[in-house]
Amino acid sequence: TFARKLLVGGNWKSHGSVNFVKEFARDTLNKISYNTSKLDLVVAPVSIHLRDAQEHIKNDIQICSQNISAFEDGAYTGEISSTQLVDLGVNWTILGHSERRHIFGESNSFVASKIKRAHDHGLNVIACIGETIDEREDGETLKACTRQLKAIREQVEDWNKLAIAYQPVWAIGTGKTATSDQAQEVHGHLREWIAEHVSQDAARLTRIIYGGSVNGENAGELINNPDIDGLLVERLSIKPEFEAIVKACN
Ligand code: PEP
Repeated sequence: TFARKLLVGGNWKSHGSVNFVKEFARDTLNKISYNTSKLDLVVAPVSIHLRDAQEHIKNDIQICSQNISAFEDGAYTGEISSTQLVDLGVNWTILGHSERRHIFGESNSFVASKIKRAHDHGLNVIACIGETIDEREDGETLKACTRQLKAIREQVEDWNKLAIAYQPVWAIGTGKTATSDQAQEVHGHLREWIAEHVSQDAARLTRIIYGGSVNGENAGELINNPDIDGLLVERLSIKPEFEAIVKACN
């Protein structure tokens, strides 16, 4: 039977310093041993630390951006283009994180256009989707998630370079984790949606990873589900406990 390669991502958000990158690489990341043929391990520091991360973090851990510009190089003050990331040797980016959507007002179609842009430059994308607490309580979880997937499908053809991160917004940074069953249920529906609306191949190959208050204790149970292909970690991705989370997936 076909097994998808697992994917564990660490989103450092707007945390850390040059010194932190060096120390965390030395004390934690570079000591994590895992099977590189079964697991992609990806960490996303802030852009100005990408080079430091490349210098200090061992090579089998892949370096990821947290965002890209919606545009090519040009007169876009403060933006970092896909070309510039590729030039740096960065092959991955996170897009559509709930903070980009909710704090910076990125719409479903805007996020999708950035995924398309990233793909045009050969970047692998972790695209985040997920429902708010109101949507969950109204029974609209799947509707909210598939609305976001639909926007992606409208612009994105290459599902090989796409991983979907299901992150219930109410579980991010709150200590409330979706239970393993809640997460598997959504992941299973998302895969069915992809099979029906994109292709059987895309459903079989696309990694759907879970994010939201993942820790060393719940990681093993989450990863043990048939449709959970990895984890996206934030708070604990910059703590020694990150190792236990990776180990749980190994
Ligand atoms: C996130 O914001 O991407 C996330 C998963 O957060 P945390 O792990 O801190 O809940």
